[in-house]
Amino acid sequence: MSVTLSAPLAARRARPGPPSLTPLLDPLVERVIRDTPECLHALVARHGSPLNIVWPHTVAGNVARMRCALSAERVDHAIFYGAKANKSQALIRAAVAAGVGVDVSSAAEFEDAVRAGAGAARICATGPAKTAPFLRQLAEAGALVAVDSLEELDDLVALLGPTGRARVLLRYRPRSAGRTRFGMAADAVLEGLRRVARAGARVALKGFHLHLSGYDYESRAVAIAEVAALVEAAAGLGLPARMIDIGGGLPVRYVAPEAYAHYLAEQGPEHYGTGRVPGDFYPYGSALTAADWIAGLLQAPCRGTTVAGYLRSAGLQLALEPGRSLVDQAAISLFRVIRTKPIGDGTAIVFVEGSSFSACETWFASEFLVNPILLPAGATRPDAAPLRASIAGHSCLDGDVVSHRLLAFDSAPQAGDLLIYANTAGYQMDLLENEFHRHPMPARLVAGPSPDGAFIFVRDK
Ligand SMILES: *Cc1c(COP(=O)(O)O)cnc(C)c1O
Repeated sequence: MSVTLSAPLAARRARPGPPSLTPLLDPLVERVIRDTPECLHALVARHGSPLNIVWPHTVAGNVARMRCALSAERVDHAIFYGAKANKSQALIRAAVAAGVGVDVSSAAEFEDAVRAGAGAARICATGPAKTAPFLRQLAEAGALVAVDSLEELDDLVALLGPTGRARVLLRYRPRSAGRTRFGMAADAVLEGLRRVARAGARVALKGFHLHLSGYDYESRAVAIAEVAALVEAAAGLGLPARMIDIGGGLPVRYVAPEAYAHYLAEQGPEHYGTGRVPGDFYPYGSALTAADWIAGLLQAPCRGTTVAGYLRSAGLQLALEPGRSLVDQAAISLFRVIRTKPIGDGTAIVFVEGSSFSACETWFASEFLVNPILLPAGATRPDAAPLRASIAGHSCLDGDVVSHRLLAFDSAPQAGDLLIYANTAGYQMDLLENEFHRHPMPARLVAGPSPDGAFIFVRDK
C-alpha cells in the first residue's frame, strides 16, 4: 500500500537523484534569468507555456570563433548555416548578418534565407530528394545545388533546357558512412563528373559535398582525403573543383566536460523514472568546442600533409554547414509547472504545461542531459522537503516525458513555477512541435537589443 508521506519522513526517505548537470549559459542570457526572473514569468503569463525565446546575439560569436580557427590556418572557407536546426527566421537573419550563407533543404527554408538577405551566391541547397520545382527555383536563382544522385543530376540538367545554368556540388558518400542512403559512392561520382562535362556550360561544377553523422573530426579528415582523388579526376576532365563542403556535425558543449564525465560514470537505472538508462546520448559535455573541432580537423593528417596544408596547396575552399553549433546558446525553453504529483518514496512527477515535443530528445529513446533551472513563482514553502522528480508533459501519451531522470529538488516545484531548459535552439525546441490535443503551437519570442542595454522581446515569425 502506498501512502502520502509527511514532509519530514519524505525528506529522510528521499533517495539521491543523479548527479546534477548544470547548463552552461551565455552570460547575457544568464543575467536575464538571474536578475529579472519576474520578466520571464510575465512573458509566460502573456504568451503561454511552453515559451521559446531565441537570442540572436549569440550567433555572431559562434561564427566569429569558427572563422578564427579557420583563419589561424589560412584556410579559405565558406560557412553556411544548416537552417533545419531551428525554425526561427530571426536566427537565419542573425547568421546572414554575421556574414555566413545558409544551407537550405526546402523551398520554405530557401525563401527564409532570401528574405533574410542571403544572396543566391550564399545559399547552398542540400537534402536528398529535391523536387523539380525546388530544383528549378534554385537554378533560376543561381544557388549552389548539392546533387545527391545521378538521377537528381539528370533531372536538373533536363529542367535547365538549352539555356539554363546551374552551379553544383556532387555529394560523395564517404566509405565510413556505411549504408546511408545519402550521396554517391566514388564510381557514381565519377560518372556524375562525366555527365557534368557533357552538359557543357549549363552545369558548372563547384566541387564536392559530404555530410557525416557523428561528431568526430577524424572521419571528416579521412573523407577529405577520399575526395582529393575525385578533385583530381575532375581536373582530368577539365572540371576544376574549387570547394569541398563537409556539412555539419560540429559539437556543442552543453555542460562542463568534467561534470558530464562524472555523470556518465555515476548514472544508473535507479536515476531514471523508467528504471532504464537510455542507450545513447548526444555528447553533451563535448571535450571540444566547435572551434577546437575545426582546429583539430585542419591539423589532422591528409595526403602527406595536414588537411589545412592540402586545402591550401590544392587551392580549395573548405565549406562548413554547422546547424546545431551555429545556434549554440541561441534559445531557452520555458515550461510552467501545473502541479507536482508524489508517487511515493520521496519521488514525484512534475507536470508541466507543454510537452516533450518541445524538448524532443526522449522521442529518440534518449534524454536531454541538462538540468532545467527552477524559477519559483513565490516564496519557498515552510514545509519544504527535498525530493526527486521526473518532468512530464500534459498530454495523455505515456511517452510524453521531458526528463525521465529523477532530478533533485530542494522542495516540490509548485504551480506557476517555471522550469527553464537552456540551449534548446539546436533541434530541441521545435523539431517535433505540433498541436496535439489542440494545444496551440508554442510561441517563439526574439530577444532583441533595447536602447538601455537590456532586451526587448517580440514575436518571431
Ligand atoms: C543536418 C545537416 C547539417 C547540419 O548538421 P549539424 O549537426 O546540425 O551541424 C549540415 N549539412 C547537411 C547536409 C545536413 O543534412
